[in-house]
Amino acid sequence: MRLSRYYLPTLKETPKEAEIASHRLMLRAGMMRQAAAGIYAWLPLGLRVLRKVEAIVRDEQDRAGCQEMLMPTIQPAELWQRSGRYDAYGPEMLRISDRHERELLYGPTNEDMLTDIFANTVRSYRDLPKLLYHIQWKFRDEVRPRFGVMRGREFLMKDCYSFDLDFEGAKRSYDRMFVCYLRTFARMGLKAIPMEAETGPIGGNLSHEFIILADTGETEVFCDRGVLDFDVLGSDIDYGDDDGIAATIGSFTSLYARTEDKHEAAAFESEVPADRRYQGRGIEVGQVFYFGKKYSEPMGAEVAGPDGQPIAVEMGSYGIGVSRLVGAIIEASHDEDGIIWPDPVAPFDVQLINLRAGDDDCDAACDGIYARLREAGLDVLYDDRDERPGVKFADADLVGLPWRLVIGPRGLKAGKVELKRRDKSIEDEVPLDQAVARLIETAGG
Ligand code: ATP
Ligand code: MG
Repeated sequence: MRLSRYYLPTLKETPKEAEIASHRLMLRAGMMRQAAAGIYAWLPLGLRVLRKVEAIVRDEQDRAGCQEMLMPTIQPAELWQRSGRYDAYGPEMLRISDRHERELLYGPTNEDMLTDIFANTVRSYRDLPKLLYHIQWKFRDEVRPRFGVMRGREFLMKDCYSFDLDFEGAKRSYDRMFVCYLRTFARMGLKAIPMEAETGPIGGNLSHEFIILADTGETEVFCDRGVLDFDVLGSDIDYGDDDGIAATIGSFTSLYARTEDKHEAAAFESEVPADRRYQGRGIEVGQVFYFGKKYSEPMGAEVAGPDGQPIAVEMGSYGIGVSRLVGAIIEASHDEDGIIWPDPVAPFDVQLINLRAGDDDCDAACDGIYARLREAGLDVLYDDRDERPGVKFADADLVGLPWRLVIGPRGLKAGKVELKRRDKSIEDEVPLDQAVARLIETAGG
């Protein structure tokens, strides 16, 4: 994409409403604009990242055996009245009525709707287990929307629901989603730590929140530093191997890791040696939850068991904050000049900077490289604008693409270009062809 044509409204000034880095940087880098409190329009650069995050989430859901569907954003109130939580949900729910004065709502989550669909379509225990998910916009009228997409009112969520015949089956589904989440976040370059979370009135110990450590996070967390060292992508997961999955979870949950709601000072001190105690803040990017028959019983989601007797199904739900992740990734990866995108979610792979647009040699060299990189399948943002180098470097730092290739008249005479990583791990002057080859090899995969 040529920057001279791209819609990228960057800001020089720091918007004053933005309290945290990710919010500031998403506005400054032209990723999104606020439409109303907690409601955002995603501009081309932001949408690219949102789609990449979504694609990784989808890929890992599919790999774990979940099937994608799509439920509507608008739901009839009647479903929530039947499950018994229409009144309990409170003012976070946006309640609407249509022209016939039928009560509707903008869905904050989908347990009720999918339980109803399931109840009307699945008859036999032979049809279990099932894992169904969708990636859809939700609305929650948060008391205090803030921090940009981190706590929005309209936000994109992946929510998956499991249906099993008995507790053992439900636990297997839960474990499967647990490891799926470990892989999902690791693939985005994030260290997300599973922490025991409050299960509310249902009880039991089957809920974990996946937390990214960040000072600006809204959740207080307590853990053994050992959990920070787990290597998630090191072992490939075989979803056919229930015992292997259970063992992975066993090691991830063996050390103390809890959010504030579940934290007990006495247990923390007795289980974790003083030099390994970590207390800090974090961002919840996902949650897995087992809730048994909470919805299946009131909504009649039953199957005929082996002897024909009706059995209410065991359920769980599993959410990931897709739009929140875009902010969370930036919180975890930026510096004072801008964003530092991890390669797998970067909006483009390479920023190609022409230091003297309009100069025949520079234009020819840049145009040629631009074509070659694109042919090799790389996404390139080509700064061909007639701007000062300082402006181009500042914008490149702000937008934060993993690789940067700088071509100027002086270097070209010596046959050299500058190749840099945004995280500063590489800053080299190399021959032009070598730079291209290196990019194709490393960034192209
Ligand atoms: P929180 O405690 O942050 O309010 P929650 O526990 O109510 O979140 P869940 O119902 O578990 O949220 O939703 C699944 C995921 O959706 C969360 O883990 C989070 O990543 C994301 N999410 C929830 N609320 C918001 C929001 N207001 N804005 C953006 N993402 C959100
Ligand atoms: Mg949650």
